[in-house]
Amino acid sequence: MDDVRVRFAPSPTGYLHVGGARTALFNYLFARKMGGRFILRIEDTDIERSEKVFEEQLISALKWLGLDWDEGPDIGGAYGPYRQSERINLYKEFAQRLVQDGKAYEVYAYPEEIETLRDKLLAEGKAPHYTKEMLQPYNTDERKREYEEKGITPAIYFSMPRKDYVISDVVKGDVVFKAGSTGDFALLRSNGMPTYNYACVIDDGLMKITHVLRGDDHLSNTVKQVALYEAFGWPTPIFGHVSMILGPDGSKLSKRHGATSVEEFKSRGYLPEALVNFLALLGWSHPEGKEILSKDELISNFTLDRLVKNAAIFNPEKLKWMNAEHIKMKDIDELVRISRQFIDVDVSDEKLRKILIALKDRIEELSQLPEMADFFFHRPTNMPEKTPEAVETYNNLCLELDKIEEWNQENIYAAFKIVMKSAKLKGKNFYMTLRQILTGRIEGPELIDIIEILGKDEVVARIKAFCG
Ligand code: GLU
Repeated sequence: MDDVRVRFAPSPTGYLHVGGARTALFNYLFARKMGGRFILRIEDTDIERSEKVFEEQLISALKWLGLDWDEGPDIGGAYGPYRQSERINLYKEFAQRLVQDGKAYEVYAYPEEIETLRDKLLAEGKAPHYTKEMLQPYNTDERKREYEEKGITPAIYFSMPRKDYVISDVVKGDVVFKAGSTGDFALLRSNGMPTYNYACVIDDGLMKITHVLRGDDHLSNTVKQVALYEAFGWPTPIFGHVSMILGPDGSKLSKRHGATSVEEFKSRGYLPEALVNFLALLGWSHPEGKEILSKDELISNFTLDRLVKNAAIFNPEKLKWMNAEHIKMKDIDELVRISRQFIDVDVSDEKLRKILIALKDRIEELSQLPEMADFFFHRPTNMPEKTPEAVETYNNLCLELDKIEEWNQENIYAAFKIVMKSAKLKGKNFYMTLRQILTGRIEGPELIDIIEILGKDEVVARIKAFCG
């Protein structure tokens, strides 16, 4: 097989959503597994909806996910340019070739006339399939003169061969398109812009793409694309159409299911490796059913035959669990660095490191950090019941803690023991009340870790504040 070349071809019309990210990921994993090339191509020919800022956001979201590409608009490559708006001349040139070969033809109809034709066919109960016979009557001498005067170029339509097509899709199996299920279609519009199906083939063909892995919303387009490859005499890439991602209720994943863009997950404190792990399992599975996987494990286990046909369900609770697992495994210094985006207090790296070690196993989303770590930075207001016995016990504790010269677990426990013994208190009650005094809460990380991190002065001060 030729060296694998795959691409992710987003349209810069919005944020990178999880569906797009998963498509990018599958292509990336396949390229890396096969020692091939992963290409980023920006499909920005929809001038009304495409925006530079969306391209920048897509690029930064892909980089954040760690899906680096080998050729793309920002880094160039041997098959550039990688932005469709910079390839307009190529589209024109290749469309002319098809016209010269008699495989495509010019159409001088106004876009409104095509719409009227479409409505007429639909009203007659026919599929809106155009033929040369229907379209060429618009090519009057008068219209040609008018276009020339106005400097408008005619649209170019492809003569779709009326024959059966069978596409062997690596995910869906053989997909049959019956002769006549698709009519002639535009390659170039009269504004000179290419249509998606056409530009896609020119680019995939010239960029020597070997495998096209994408969402199955493009399956019905594939017949048009295959017909174009044949018309140019180019090899057809291998196609793999993965099923859509559905929300937990079984409907197509959308905004109303909650966060769907990569940016949103990033700002809620998901680690890129957790999102990558989660997305990989939406439509693919590990041969031994392993669920927590690093990027390297995903790469080494990735094969196209494990892509599944069924639609994948996006379960936000599972993603949360995976994020928690990846946070637990995260290198602590890295975690300190990332947490800075969420923690807006003046705290040294050393202290933050200790706080994160204490909290690490309990965090699901890093955006929970300010709330979870609040008591490390601010004195709690929520105090336990102030009975005379409690005041006596914890005053005692203050005295014992004050004596400690080296603030370590051993010495702290020794002080606890003395106080508990004289107060005849059970460990559980003693610790529960102390936790509340120090943190204002009844649960949280190990109390001894909290006490060590807060330091002697702060612990004694908080206990004194309670005993008042
Ligand atoms: N720009 C198209 C999209 O975002 C690309 C589809 C394809 O991969 O061919 O849907």
